This record gives sequence, structure tokens and C-alpha cells, in this order.
Amino acid sequence: MVALVDVRRLTPRTDAVLADPRLAAAEHRLGRAIVLSAVRRAQDRARAGEIEPAAVPDAAVESLPSHAATLTPVINATGVLLHTNLGRAPLSAAARDALQAAAGSTDLEFDLASGQRGRRGRGMLSALSAAVPAAEAVHVVNNNAAALVLAATALAAGREVVVSRGELIEIGDGFRLPDLLESTGARIREVGTTNRTTAADYAAAIGPQTAFVLKVHPSNYRIEGFTASASIAELAALSVPVIGDIGSGLLTPHPLLPAEPDASSWLTAGAAVVTASGDKLLGGPQAGLLAGRADLIARLARHPLARALRVDKLTAAALEATLTGPRPPVAEQLAAPQAELAGRADLIADALAAVGIDARAQGCEAAVGGGGAPGVSLPSAAVSLPAELAAELRSGLAVRRGAMPAVVGRTEDGRLLLDLRAISPADDQRLTAAVRSAAAADPAAAG
Ligand SMILES: *Cc1c(COP(=O)(O)O)cnc(C)c1O
Repeated sequence: MVALVDVRRLTPRTDAVLADPRLAAAEHRLGRAIVLSAVRRAQDRARAGEIEPAAVPDAAVESLPSHAATLTPVINATGVLLHTNLGRAPLSAAARDALQAAAGSTDLEFDLASGQRGRRGRGMLSALSAAVPAAEAVHVVNNNAAALVLAATALAAGREVVVSRGELIEIGDGFRLPDLLESTGARIREVGTTNRTTAADYAAAIGPQTAFVLKVHPSNYRIEGFTASASIAELAALSVPVIGDIGSGLLTPHPLLPAEPDASSWLTAGAAVVTASGDKLLGGPQAGLLAGRADLIARLARHPLARALRVDKLTAAALEATLTGPRPPVAEQLAAPQAELAGRADLIADALAAVGIDARAQGCEAAVGGGGAPGVSLPSAAVSLPAELAAELRSGLAVRRGAMPAVVGRTEDGRLLLDLRAISPADDQRLTAAVRSAAAADPAAAG
């Protein structure tokens, strides 16, 4: 009891700790609140007898986060290319540069040459138009769900949207497409059955109340066996516009994903408008892309709701750079030959084994994810480690201090697999360093 009172009295005062030059510098970088809470945590540890009172400033400095936001950089070693929980597509270097450049004041809706107001996001919109020549016009909103809500609100509020029963999907996290559409005041007219819907089913349902036919690519599941669905070309022959939700955001066909629809093909086949996500297979920032008939796109873009769904300058910058710049990481990772991944896994495993870590390379199967290309398995390669290292790699001290990225892998047969399919080769060194750091922090787990 006496010792405890002593420690409390000896714990340095907050203002004395804050005067430490390292903490004063951190206050400029991170703001007072974050530094203050690091100091309070260190003082609490001293009061609890966990650290010496004299160690409070050091402990506070050590527990400072590396950024003012709590989002932590992660190396995605899950083998799922588009992991929704890990922020889906990683941005290309070009997109990161562009959003950094746009972060301050920028000519988002200003024409520098004339000094007059300019069209908001025109660079992004012309990049998208150029990437989808089959579209007469394009528009961009916050995400694909917003694109669907805008289309349903502007074109179908109080009227009917005809959809196949096989395409009434749940997007994820409990959000269901039918609920989303009905939240706009549109009514859903379901046609066909779960496994089979024909063009005649749609034709029979179309009447004066029909605003449009919605064709959804059921991107996160597959129906096999006795199935039928109407093609875009068949639906385009009906008397109402066809809105097509392609989901994953491919703008042109992808040779490795023949079952994934793309915006150009659906528009060429007669879709009036297609909607897609920006942060799935397109490999860009979260965004909802709308492309198609000029009259319909203009109605969407001029609807009052469009103002509530518009993207900010950071998205505009990153999306334009994704469309015009070099192939984004997702496209590179999708295309990487298995032999290349295996070679990288060998090198990493050898480097780790050389310092006494129980690491070995092995072949494995990766996936596209993000609700895309279900049933497509991508041959991959992984570094296999003791499963006990997983927690340290995800959230060890080095990660919490921002010295190392978090590494999230997957557990298979009692081993932690770090799958290289969703990791760019440029990150191999960081990955190796993170594993070495975790193993050093927890040697018992590493051997
Ligand atoms: C992912 C997906 C959505 C939702 O897109 P967000 O950009 O996440 O809003 C909608 N429809 C389909 C078919 C999808 O695959």
C-alpha cells in the first residue's frame, strides 16, 4: 500500500511529460488530443506499477500512433484480391500521387484558363468516357449501391422495376438489393424463378407502370445445373430501357474472367445504362460508375439526389489516375503467373528460415473476392508459418506503433498462410521485415 502511494506521487505531471521535445513535436504532427491520451496511458501504467515513473515519457512516445487517423496499413496476405474488410482495391502509385496532389485546394469545378466555374470532375468523367467508348455519357457517384439508388429514384420512383428472382441478391453485410431499390419508392416486379428466367417472363410483366428492366450480375454466387437467364440483347429488344448492374467494374472483357460481364459488352448488346463499382476489378477508389444513354445519364446527373451522392475531389483524382495511369495493383495481381508467385514465396521463406523461423513455401489457391468471380480459383503460392504468429503479425506492438504494417493471412490446416497473390512484389521486403519483427517479439511462436 505504501509503495503504491509512493509510485502515484512519483508519476510525473502531465505538463512536465508534454514538455518532452519528442511529444511537443508529435503534438504538431498529430494534434494535442492524441498526444495527451498517449501520456495518460503511460501515466496509468506507471500508477499501476507496470513501468517506472521515470519511463513515462518514453512509454508515451512509444505508444504514439504513426498517423492522426486510426486506419492502419495492412499487407493483404489473405489470398483474396478484393477483400471488403481490408478496403477492397489498393490504389496504384499514380492514383495515390493524384489524390495527394488534389488534397489541398484544387480546380475541381473551376476553369483555370478562363477563371470561371468549370464542370466538376471533368478530368475523371472524360477519362471514364474514353475508357468506355460505347457509352454516350457517364456519371460517377459514391459507390455502386448509390448508382442503383440514383437510377431507381430518378427513373422509377412510384413505378415498377422488373427484376429476375434469380438476381435479387444480398450485396453483403445484410444489405439486400430489393430493400435498397424499394427504399427509393420504386416497386419491384419479380419475374421468373430462382434458377430460370426467360425473356418471355420479362415481356409478360412489362406494362404501363414499368420504368425499366434491371439486370443484375449475381456476382457473389453461382447457380449451376438447370438454369436459364435472358441475355442483355434479348432484354434490349423489349419496350423499356435495360439498366445493367455488372458489379465488379470491368470496363472491357477480361481474358482470365470470361464469366464476368463488362460495361462495354453490355452497352454494345443494348443496355441503356450500366452501373459498376470503382473499387473492385477496376482497381480504383470506392465509386459508383454509371455509363450509357445520354438522355438517361443527364436525368440522373440532374436529379436532386445526385448532389447527395457526388464524389469528392480525392475520389475524382484517384479514379481519373486509375483510368489513365498504369495497370492498377489488382490487375497486375490478377495476371501474375503462378510460377512468379512461387519464386517469390521461395525467396521469402528462405530468408525467414535462414534466421531460424519455421517458414516454408507452398502452393495454394487464391480468390478474386469482393463479390466477384465466384467459383474462380486462382493458382497461387504462400509462405507457411506457425499459426501462433498470426496475432503478433496482425496487431503486435510494432504494428500498433506504426513501425510495421499489419499482416493479415489465413489459417489452413493449423498453419498461417501468407498468400502472395494479393501482394505486390514491391511489398515483399516489407512483408519479410514484418514477419521477422513478429518472430523477434514472440520467439516461442516462431520456431
Ligand atoms: C459489389 C456489388 C454491388 C455493391 O457495390 P458497392 O460499390 O459496394 O456499393 C452491387 N451490385 C453488385 C452486382 C455487386 O457485385
